[in-house]
Amino acid sequence: MARKSSILLFICLTMLSSAASSGNIKLAAANTETTKTKDENNSIIYPEELKRILTDKKSSSFVLGRSEQGRKIEAFFFPGSSDKKALVIGGVHGSELSSIEVTSQLVQQLMSNERIYYSVIVVPSLFPDNAETAKQFTQQIGDVNNIGRYSYPGAVDPNRQMPTPGKSFDDEHELDHVGRKVETENTLLLKLIEEYRPQRIVSLHAIRDINHAGVFADPRTDHNSIALGYNSDSSLAVSMAMYIYQSGGYIPGNQLIKRPTTLYHKDPEPVAAGQFQKRNFKGSLFSGQRGGGISLGTWASTAIMAENDPSKNRDAMRILTMEFPGSKRPADYKTKAEQSFWQRQIELYAAGIQNIFLQEYFVEEN
Ligand SMILES: [Zn+2]
Repeated sequence: MARKSSILLFICLTMLSSAASSGNIKLAAANTETTKTKDENNSIIYPEELKRILTDKKSSSFVLGRSEQGRKIEAFFFPGSSDKKALVIGGVHGSELSSIEVTSQLVQQLMSNERIYYSVIVVPSLFPDNAETAKQFTQQIGDVNNIGRYSYPGAVDPNRQMPTPGKSFDDEHELDHVGRKVETENTLLLKLIEEYRPQRIVSLHAIRDINHAGVFADPRTDHNSIALGYNSDSSLAVSMAMYIYQSGGYIPGNQLIKRPTTLYHKDPEPVAAGQFQKRNFKGSLFSGQRGGGISLGTWASTAIMAENDPSKNRDAMRILTMEFPGSKRPADYKTKAEQSFWQRQIELYAAGIQNIFLQEYFVEEN
């Protein structure tokens, strides 16, 4: 049971923080007002606040909610030149600290008033408690112990807690496809997706076998798992990978030289439009079946046809999973040369999101 205090909604519309002090940054006019809101049910719905952010179309930051241990889950909004919306999430696996470096780097870059086509919400660290755990064991970051991957002993993989594909999130019972309680942080994410309704998502991860680092796409389907066609999803992911590669990035998992692929190495082949799309329901084969369940990629890329409430229907979202090579932060590497190499990689992966994913490429139709 989620602690009530952890699902109090804190929306703090603020000027972007003092972190923005570097560079020629023009942010939203100072807004000293801080609103803390919760509705009668203590639920985490905040349509009014989110609507205001989207209507104002100014760079702003807000707090999505509180983690299980009470940490703020921060979110940043940056307006684009179109009415299209994107979402970027880091730190679904708290052990993958490099993924949080990439999302934080992206926020820094977007603060420099760079032009983007898609408006974007960036959630740099979805499971801050788990990331904090990982940081306490710097020698073991990225090793097989996965410190920080799970929220507690026996917990379900945070990326395997999504509802049944084709179904909306039942915010009364908060259960995943398998009938398990969804963790607080994921309920906040699901609420955000429901209210914000992005057309495209990047979920940042890190991968231990750096030969598989790359940008991967889940095939979109209708609510019955009938494929909608993979070409534009795949092309977008390849374009991002190619941009990173040509800028000097290390991104071998897309096999750009041999035969470009955007299929995650453990997932079933995407089928042609109109055919039934198989999915990977197993996840990582860790003990106790906790790697089983529905991933964000599968749920988000499946359209929703809610039986009772038509307002919860949505199209399949384009969702890309970016696997950064290794979980370490640049500072976790020993030599100066390694540190600067990996810092550059962080910047290039963030640039791939900013300069391809958030620009006018393979735009979804209305
Ligand atoms: Zn991961």
